[in-house]
Amino acid sequence: MRVGVLALQGDVREHLAVIASLGHTGVAVKYREDLDDLDALIIPGGESTTIGKLADRFELLEPMKKRIAEGLPTLGTCAGMILLATATTGEPQHLIGELDITVERNAFGRQVDSFEADLDVEGLDEPFHAVFIRAPLVVSAADDVEVLAAVDGRPVLVRQGHMMAASFHPELTNDDRIHKMLISSVTER
Ligand code: GLN
Repeated sequence: MRVGVLALQGDVREHLAVIASLGHTGVAVKYREDLDDLDALIIPGGESTTIGKLADRFELLEPMKKRIAEGLPTLGTCAGMILLATATTGEPQHLIGELDITVERNAFGRQVDSFEADLDVEGLDEPFHAVFIRAPLVVSAADDVEVLAAVDGRPVLVRQGHMMAASFHPELTNDDRIHKMLISSVTER
C-alpha cells in the first residue's frame, strides 16, 4: 500500500517511519503529482499556518481537497487536524477544509503547552498513550462526526467517514495502532 505524508513541514519522517515499519510504502508528498496512486494520506503535526501557506504556494491545497473529497482515506494529526477542519475559531488561515469540525488552536492553554494522557479509544482494547503538543481542540462537529476519544469530555480523536483526526501525535510514541486504523480503513473499503 502507498501512504502519502504531506512533506512541507512538521513530523514527516516520524510518520514515514511508522508506515515503513508496518510494511507499507511511505511517499513524501511535496508536489501534486505525488498525490497520484496513493491509497491513504497523512497530514502531519507541525505549524498549521506554515503548512497551509506552503501547501497553497505549492498548489497542493485544491488537489488534496479533491482527492480527500473523492474518498482518499486520510489521517490528520495535530496541525494536520487543523488543516483538515472546515473552520478554526481564530484568524483565517489556509485549510483543506474537508472534515466537518471547528477547532480551536492551542486550546489547552499556554501554561500546559504539552502533556500526555492515557486515552480510551473506541475500537482499541488497551488505552493509547497520547502526547499532546500545543494541541487543538474540537469545539463543534457535524452530526456524523464520531468521537473516538476525549480528554475531560473534549474530543481529541474524531472520525468522519474516511477521515480521521487526532489532536495528539501518534507518530511520537511506539504505538502504531492509530496508523493501523488508517490502514484498515483502506482495506475495508
Ligand atoms: N499549535 C500548532 C498549530 O496551531 C499545532 C501543534 C502541533 O502540530 N504539534 O498549528
